[in-house]
Amino acid sequence: MRSPNQNARPDPEDINLVVVHGISLPPGEFGTGAVARLFCNTLDCSGDPRLADLAGVRVSAHLFVSRRGSVTQFVAFDRRAWHAGISRWRGRTGCNDFSIGIELEGTDDAGYTSRQYGVLTNILDALIARYPRIDRSAVVGHSEIAPGRKIDPGPHFDWPLVHGGLFRSLQPGSARGVPSQEESLQPGSARGVPSQEESLQPGSARGVPSQEESLQPGSARVSLAEDGSARGNAPHKT
Ligand SMILES: [Zn+2]
Repeated sequence: MRSPNQNARPDPEDINLVVVHGISLPPGEFGTGAVARLFCNTLDCSGDPRLADLAGVRVSAHLFVSRRGSVTQFVAFDRRAWHAGISRWRGRTGCNDFSIGIELEGTDDAGYTSRQYGVLTNILDALIARYPRIDRSAVVGHSEIAPGRKIDPGPHFDWPLVHGGLFRSLQPGSARGVPSQEESLQPGSARGVPSQEESLQPGSARGVPSQEESLQPGSARVSLAEDGSARGNAPHKT
């Protein structure tokens, strides 16, 4: 899925920041497809007063991670996605120029799912390997680069878990490894099976998991294709 809300970076090699966001549309509702439509400029904002503010808004992110851990890429990493808005990081303004934006499906007043943390951890591993100027200290929330204007991903986001890369050490059955009630209540699709949306990602055939990733059963796998696209599988829960 490709968002038209993108343009060229001033310097495609100048990528040194990852911005984590939270979003759900309508706010607090998950799995509606409205976020993808927003990013593709096909969201009908007239039918729902909760969406009225979004009429004419042109935004995107490089990646969207659903509550179930499926990953959709809207903008190639070497292109400039429109996710940060007015922003500043380490003295530099206009963070869209030099950052990668990852939207997690969620709200500012609740936590994120274990699948999202697993997928995000693997995305970050892949990005850090691909872009040497990104390290774990350069993974920040939207709230950090736009203070006073944005609060996502919100106070419930588990920064120590992400910055420490600790997700893989968590065993199934631990508090964080247990699927949330919300996850358990979603019937209909087998866990761990990529959604049709993922299967349609261009370049997916080239996204071969690295040996390191293959050696970690139970973790979500994300690999980076040569064209800068990402692939993600929901973690297998056994
Ligand atoms: Zn945001």
